[in-house]
Amino acid sequence: MQRTGWVSSQIFLQHDTGPGHLECPGRLQAIWKALAQSGRDQVLDSREPRQAGLDEIGRVHQGDYVQRVQATILDGATQLDPDTPVSPGSWKAALAAAGGAIEACERVLAGEWKNAFLAARPPGHHAEYESSMGFCIFNTAMIAARHLQAKLDIERVAILDWDVHHGNGSQHLSERDPSIFYASVHQAPHFPGTGAREERGLGAGEGTVLNVPLAAGAGDEEFVAALEDDLLPAIEEFDPEFLIISAGFDAHAGDPLSDTRVTDAGFMRMGQAALALAGRAAEGRVLTVLEGGYNLECLSRTVNDHLGLLLEA
Ligand SMILES: [Zn+2]
Repeated sequence: MQRTGWVSSQIFLQHDTGPGHLECPGRLQAIWKALAQSGRDQVLDSREPRQAGLDEIGRVHQGDYVQRVQATILDGATQLDPDTPVSPGSWKAALAAAGGAIEACERVLAGEWKNAFLAARPPGHHAEYESSMGFCIFNTAMIAARHLQAKLDIERVAILDWDVHHGNGSQHLSERDPSIFYASVHQAPHFPGTGAREERGLGAGEGTVLNVPLAAGAGDEEFVAALEDDLLPAIEEFDPEFLIISAGFDAHAGDPLSDTRVTDAGFMRMGQAALALAGRAAEGRVLTVLEGGYNLECLSRTVNDHLGLLLEA
């Protein structure tokens, strides 16, 4: 029987963002604890991530940027940019986040796993071609998408991003490419400021970006409607062979980095709708990648709930 894959690691705790930072190692520890308490850790197929190769990261990021990140971290710097603190352990964590996503795609495509969840940090969706941004170093979702295309005979990949912040990096890295559909629901106006309705892709990629910006105060009904009425039908028409969910859980009512009001039940409905679409369009092939989520209790509950959906899918 195909199982749900779970990729996480102590390596990710070594990405030390300093005292009081919201994107902290405790996020993963809270998730692990909730998983153990629910017993789901016993039924998931857990794997340690491998480290991505520089060639695999280089499918998405500029080589000079990757080298600069390595040199900066290994030189002992504490910031890559004003929003992205690093520590000596950040380099291996960043490579493992990318490698974990790659490995999860390989296991799903091999039929070993029906779907998978990557619980890594740093997160990825703000990372641009040649810059870190917003707690993100390498763009995990895009590295996974490019690996699917380069090595696993997948042509069309959809990225569904329900983190409360727009995934500027994922959009910019795919918006000229008709083989990747980027779909996002997010709070606006809000960091990082991109993600307007009018941004629909560029050049040959025209029509393969879709954004649903929602005002502060939006809750379950607005987020679920964004998926059911806009994003998922567009993804289905695109007909992806693989779905990557950039799953931030920071649209939660309890999250300190948003003014939106999604509840646990809302995230369940979003997950159900997304997995139903993947079942119809992509033979159920889904990799969920953890992005944001900064209230540890809300985050650990909603991730645990989402894993329940992956297990039942
Ligand atoms: Zn976020």
